[in-house]
Order: sequence, then C-alpha cells, then structure tokens
Amino acid sequence: SRQFTRPLNDLANQWNTLLSAVAGAERVFDVLGEDEERKDEGAAIELAEVKGAVAFEEVTFAYEGRTATISDVSFVMKPGETIALVGPTGAGKTTLIQLLCRFYDASGGRITIDGRDSRTIKRESLRSHMAFVLQDPFLFEGTIRENIRYGKLDATDVEVEQAAKLANAHSFIVKLRDGYDAVLKPDGSGISQGQKQLLAIARAILANPSILVLDEATSSIDTVTEIKIQEALQRLMQGRTSFVIAHRLNTIQQADQIVVLENGTIIEKGSHIQLLERKGFYSTLVSRQLEA
Ligand code: ADP
Repeated sequence: SRQFTRPLNDLANQWNTLLSAVAGAERVFDVLGEDEERKDEGAAIELAEVKGAVAFEEVTFAYEGRTATISDVSFVMKPGETIALVGPTGAGKTTLIQLLCRFYDASGGRITIDGRDSRTIKRESLRSHMAFVLQDPFLFEGTIRENIRYGKLDATDVEVEQAAKLANAHSFIVKLRDGYDAVLKPDGSGISQGQKQLLAIARAILANPSILVLDEATSSIDTVTEIKIQEALQRLMQGRTSFVIAHRLNTIQQADQIVVLENGTIIEKGSHIQLLERKGFYSTLVSRQLEA
C-alpha cells in the first residue's frame, strides 16, 4: 500500500473534531467552552490580514506532567509554501499543529506569524486565518449548503456553489435528490468518505484562509474521487501556506520542505530530492514504498 504512517491516534481525532469546527470561522470557542481556554493576554491584538509567513524558532513543549514532547523544532516558511510533516505515530506532528493554532503554547522558543510572536495574537483572530481539511471531516446534521457555508457564515448561495465547483464537489451534489438542500445524516452515512473530503475542501475554499492544515485521508477512497480530491487540494493550496500531515508519498514530493520528525525532534529536513540524496530515514521510507 502507498500508506506509510498510521492515521492520527484517538486523542488526535478528538482534536480533529474540534479543529474541523473552526473551519475558518471562530467557532472553536463554542465547541471548547470558553472557560476551558485561557484568556488572551491583555495586550494581544487582532490581525486583520495575514500573509502567511510562519516560523518555528527552537520550539520546545511538554504536556503537563510529561517530559518534553517537542524539542528544539525550527523551520521557516515563506507565504504560500507547503511543508510536509512526516514521521511515525507519536512523533509530534499533531502537537506541532496544536502549537501553531495555540491550543497550547510553547514552553521554549517561539512561533511567529508574519514575523510576530503568535502569543501576541488573539487566538480567535489567529484561527480565523486558518482552515483545516482533516481525514475525518467535521460535518453536522444539516444541509450540504449549510455544511459548506460553515466556512464563511455570511456567504451567498452563489459563493457556496462556486466553492463547491472549485472543490470538485458540485457534480456529486447536484446528483443528490435534494442537491444542495440534501440533509446529511447524523451518522455521516449517505455520502462517501471521499465526498466528505470534497465538502471539507469546499468549506475551506469558502473560508479563504492564509494558512491551511491538511491531514491526508488514509482510508481507501476510489481512484476517481482520489483524483478529484488531489486536484481540489491543489487549487485550495495555491497561494496559501500549507501544513500537510502526510501519510502517502505523492503529496510530499511536491512540498517545498519535508520535515521528518521522530520523538518530537526534527531528524531530517529538506526537499524530496535533497532527502533522497541524504539516504537517511526518508529515503528508506521511499524505497520501502517502491518495493511494496
Ligand atoms: P503524531 O501526531 O505524530 O502521531 P502526537 O503529536 O499526537 O504525534 O504525539 C506526540 C507525543 O505526545 C506522543 O507521545 C503522545 O502520546 C503525546 N501526547 C499527545 N497528546 C497528548 C496529551 N494531550 N497529553 C499528554 N501527552 C500527549
């Protein structure tokens, strides 16, 4: 199989559900409950616009009562660049994303957005510039239209349909008996896993964020839908700073940088070609996959 890391663990999946709920809107507070999160620092500001430069500078972090989960992680992304996070389960990929969106704050080092320490940005404001497309997208019992509109609550029907077209979702939606007014079942049945991903992509396109987090689907998706997803993701990622939690090699090869993590530290960093030449962990993964 083309998959080489396992999907995120259950803990991460709970987190996925929370993050999916953000989807470019500021709904995370509704989901988390306001008192569960610390108040922003008094001087924290709102960012009206984000270009999407992101830097991790010697970031260190430990979950409460644990030894360091993330140690000395550094990388720099220009606006619009893609970084692929690679590494076995437990390596710290999810934790890096949690730090990025300030579910936690680094205990050492710092994360900057457009050169500004992210701790000086209001969480809600920071997250309003991010969108998430995760392997088990957050969808609620409501119409398809409402589920896409969740990315931008004041979007018109025309905007919703434009986003769905860019996401390659329009054609399957109009084939449903009620089209955009089709109601999604609470258990998520009725549409395929791949179609759910397309809806999540449409939602993210509508949200129009500067920073994207993608967690690739690992479950089996038919080839035709997979091609639609890849094409829609290319459109979504265009011009946006993207973090891809990568489970397969095809998306990684195009990334500007590949960061290979193990036990919370970066063991390799570079482009696909650079890492192949290095003949280390990544290159071993690639040759193992070619054999499979
Ligand atoms: P990955 O996404 O690469 O699978 P994670 O970032 O989820 O890795 O996990 C990194 C490490 O941190 C693991 O050892 C995991 O068990 C631990 N961890 C993750 N979340 C928590 C948490 N909320 N509390 C304590 N430890 C955690």
